[in-house]
Amino acid sequence: MTQPIPQARFADGTEVPALGLGTWHMGESRKDSAAEVRALQAGIECGMTLIDTAEMYADGGAESVTGEAIRGRRDEVFLVSKVLPSNASHKGTVAACEASLRRLGTDRIDLYLLHWPGRHPLRETVAAFEELRGAGKIVRWGVSNFDTLAMRQLSAVPGGGNCAANQVLYNLSTRGIEFDLMPWMQELTMPLMAYSPLDEGRLMRHPGLGKMAGQLGVTPAQLALAFLLGRDNAIAIPKSSSPDRVAENRASADIDLSGEQLAELDRMFPPPRSREPLQMI
Ligand code: NDP
Repeated sequence: MTQPIPQARFADGTEVPALGLGTWHMGESRKDSAAEVRALQAGIECGMTLIDTAEMYADGGAESVTGEAIRGRRDEVFLVSKVLPSNASHKGTVAACEASLRRLGTDRIDLYLLHWPGRHPLRETVAAFEELRGAGKIVRWGVSNFDTLAMRQLSAVPGGGNCAANQVLYNLSTRGIEFDLMPWMQELTMPLMAYSPLDEGRLMRHPGLGKMAGQLGVTPAQLALAFLLGRDNAIAIPKSSSPDRVAENRASADIDLSGEQLAELDRMFPPPRSREPLQMI
């Protein structure tokens, strides 16, 4: 039986599926783009209606593929895109957002992120985000690859308290954020977007995970995603260019891990015991 996808929630009360679609490496080759569009559409059709993209991916190519996939059905999806830190001056952020909107073929981005901390002062980027929000070009904004200290510094910037989300590397092999960043964000009802939830595919080759998945009658990808779906207010965004794998990933929502199974995962992939530096790709 297909279970509904759990929801994550923003501080403004908006709910989104906790299982979405990544797009990194899409749009890199013209010959693959039709298949990529089909994979994204397969995801939308089975309820994975949150799509994560960025101006950086294939120099805008992934946004163009996303635009193609959502054409005629914009209102069904929750669109996330990102500005490159090198573009994140006040003027540069506004220009980058407008270029992303053109490639996406839409008038608004639901969540617009600063891709990682960079050289432009945060107060400039935040001022541009707030201006874009006022103009209705973005609905809310957030950041990516920010550790707890950077999040606190952001809160101190004028308007910084309006940050709606933080997208970070999080999967079974990389659990450091569970120590401090995740609880801090949960306290603020700020969704944590888990990027590379399959460790870029490496988790599928983990012998212990493979063995446990086999015993449960699921795939390693499904087990890795089910773990993330069990976390409070985390959004996993696996990328796949294959409709079959998208369907496989969707079915991770049907898995309810018991306390004993979660403990087995903790033995294989120990949670952090102290603060760890934020890892990023
Ligand atoms: P993922 O952990 O999502 O892994 C993607 C890889 O796993 C691809 O090679 C894909 O291949 C494969 N895969 C997907 N599903 C399955 C499956 N069921 N069985 C076997 N293999 C599978 O890595 P990403 O780095 O792509 O992360 C996801 C998304 O997060 C990105 O696409 C991007 O949107 C975002 N991201 C954000 C970053 C940031 O700095 N903010 C950094 C990195 C990622 P195939 O396509 O052939 O199925």
